[in-house]
Amino acid sequence: MSPRGKVGSRVSGGEALFQRMFTRIGCEGRPPHFHVEFYAYSSLVITLRRRGDVYYVRFSDLLRRAPQEVLEGAAALLLARVFRRRPTRALVRPYLEYARSDRTRSRINHLRRRRVRPAQVSPQGAHHDLVAIFEQLNEKYFSRQLERPHIAWSSRTWRRQFGCYDPGPNQIVLNRRMDRRGVPQFAVEYVLFHEMLHVKHPTRRSGCSLISHSPEFRAEEKRYEHFRAARKFLDQLAR
Ligand SMILES: [Zn+2]
Repeated sequence: MSPRGKVGSRVSGGEALFQRMFTRIGCEGRPPHFHVEFYAYSSLVITLRRRGDVYYVRFSDLLRRAPQEVLEGAAALLLARVFRRRPTRALVRPYLEYARSDRTRSRINHLRRRRVRPAQVSPQGAHHDLVAIFEQLNEKYFSRQLERPHIAWSSRTWRRQFGCYDPGPNQIVLNRRMDRRGVPQFAVEYVLFHEMLHVKHPTRRSGCSLISHSPEFRAEEKRYEHFRAARKFLDQLAR
């Protein structure tokens, strides 16, 4: 657990900043009150809730050292969403560039390594050994160039996903549901192969968001020998 805990800390000048942005994105009239604090999120999320006359804003404390124009951009984006305005690009660009920069991404991953404890257990399942499968796939498709992340079976079965790669703790987790006799090795291999491609092609977001699957990713995925059979099997399993 982080020593900072989860308690927020007030952003000095936060209210004035939000009121300024309220006007700059084109809202008319007297700006409302804002209570703005930094909060120990493990990603760059920024949230806003309204209670009575006051808007409560939480900036990720990853923004704590960000320059003023970055905070302004973040505020403008957030307010534009709530008040249905269109902020100018110049106003939001500093935030977007900051959020997308490699430096910010690596700070997020670094923080997540501390805040998100690898939750799972062992790669050795009752029927399938994920480390052994990883090594085979690494040899066959990656010329052994892929560094092995943490790999584990999920501690519980999941409904929706078969696998997930989280760059924060640098961990691949596969749905325990596949660790049973009726599931052929090629299905497990395919899911692990897919997650290994996420390790090879880092993305901004963790898990399996759609943005992670570029056309190159999809093309490379088809190199897996039993691609079609595995997809077919998993489609049936998902029903
Ligand atoms: Zn994916």
